Amino acid sequence: MTAIPTSQSAARSATASPASALPVRIFSTARGELESTVPVGAVYTPDTVLDWSEPLSGGTVVSDDEVAPLAPWSAFVLAGHTLTIVDVGGNQSADFLVYNAADTDERYSVPDTLAAQGNAYLREGSVLVSNEGRALMTVTGNEIDRQDTIGGACSKESNTLRYGFHTEFQHGCRENFLAEAGRHGLGVRDLVSNVNWFMNVPVEADGSLGIVDGISAPGKRVALRAEMDVLVIVSNCPQMNNPCNDFNPTPLRMIVTAATTSAGAARTEGLA
Ligand SMILES: [Zn+2]
Repeated sequence: MTAIPTSQSAARSATASPASALPVRIFSTARGELESTVPVGAVYTPDTVLDWSEPLSGGTVVSDDEVAPLAPWSAFVLAGHTLTIVDVGGNQSADFLVYNAADTDERYSVPDTLAAQGNAYLREGSVLVSNEGRALMTVTGNEIDRQDTIGGACSKESNTLRYGFHTEFQHGCRENFLAEAGRHGLGVRDLVSNVNWFMNVPVEADGSLGIVDGISAPGKRVALRAEMDVLVIVSNCPQMNNPCNDFNPTPLRMIVTAATTSAGAARTEGLA
């Protein structure tokens, strides 16, 4: 559990990032000053509006975490609990994977999810379906028009292909996923196509995809109810080469709440 600050710290705002340009960081070394456009740590602009918002569902708060810009996160969410993801700074892609906590060979499946609902976007009521055809989580609240699950996750490899080899040392969501998955005994074979909460990926009339300016805003939320005990892995997208994060990576807030059941207190025991 992490305390949620109400304003960004001076340290975080030390590096300005014009909306249309990569930030340039100057490092002092024994050999002089080095200039780098590689995002290091939190780089959002000093005037960024932050809205930490509140859970979209009622009940007892089980956990409440801040995910720093560029960083990964994971948690077990018990059946019946609800995860609220807050887009604190707006237009920040939360790349998302979900697994059956008891058997991680059962995991989120984009084709099964889209076939089941007959729609290319995720909206309130969408069910995140596993590769075994079962419900992992249900979208119980959604404050932007549509959510993407087609655009995939950025990676070192795709960055170098799309944007050039000078981006080789920028980590992407795939590297975040791998780092966090490793904490749970998962590896590269366990990474599948993902959800991009708050990322704007319109499907054009000709079937092509765009990654364009976002349709989210500070404080916008999505809420997901776990339909079984699940493991959620998130990458707070570090991408700085296209507008998917508004060229200004910002924090996410992850709040898990437990509805109190008619039988009594909410189930709150943890998972190994
Ligand atoms: Zn990414």
